[in-house]
Amino acid sequence: MRDRRTELAENLAKVEERIAAACEAAGRAREEVTLVVVTKTYPADDVRLLHDLGVRHVAENRDQDAAPKAAACSDLDLTWHFVGQLQTNKVRSVASYVDIVQSVDRLRLVSALSAAAERAERELGCLVQVALDAESGQQGARGGVAPDGIEELAAAIADSPGLRLDGLMTVAPLAGPYAGRQQAAFERLMEFSSGLRVAHPAANMVSAGMSADLEQAVAAGATHVRVGTAVLGVRPRLG
Ligand SMILES: *Cc1c(COP(=O)(O)O)cnc(C)c1O
Repeated sequence: MRDRRTELAENLAKVEERIAAACEAAGRAREEVTLVVVTKTYPADDVRLLHDLGVRHVAENRDQDAAPKAAACSDLDLTWHFVGQLQTNKVRSVASYVDIVQSVDRLRLVSALSAAAERAERELGCLVQVALDAESGQQGARGGVAPDGIEELAAAIADSPGLRLDGLMTVAPLAGPYAGRQQAAFERLMEFSSGLRVAHPAANMVSAGMSADLEQAVAAGATHVRVGTAVLGVRPRLG
């Protein structure tokens, strides 16, 4: 079996090549796109190797897995992102180690995050997760607020002590009018981002694109791509 460090280094190099090529094709500078490596289901040792290989942004989607991992890596210079559906009873834990919550999709979560951030004396970056396939007032199958709920949530985040409104996130829908049309989905997210920045000019993060569709995300204008499988390998279970 190949050494894990070599394997991760090779995978990272391939992903880096893909991001660089996508930036070039889109006429964008490579620095405009940040790679966030999604380390869910993989051990703290992998996070440590990735840090050693230059990765500075990692993402997790379950507090139960993420909390011990973040604790085991607390000596490393890493920004931790949370990208999963977040229950309010996990918020206090998440607020103790996460820097940016990308999956804010309801008002109750905003108030819980604000209280937890204040208690932890930390500032939490927040992205509104948009479900492009959700009907008005509904949530997406994998979390996210319907597009007509973005403004209200963004305003609540911006007004909440301990929270910082950073921008928008989406996962390309598997169903509905955007199914199989990732680039169109990400372009729609960019339109919502432009709208958001009228009232909140600093909220310029746009998190879109995963292993299979990072090129379409970069082409649409994403500032952050979230890549798991292409760096770490196929996950042993759904996560
Ligand atoms: C798991 C996950 C990713 C990474 O997906 P890959 O296909 O493994 O790159 C990105 N975003 C979210 C929200 C995820 O849950």
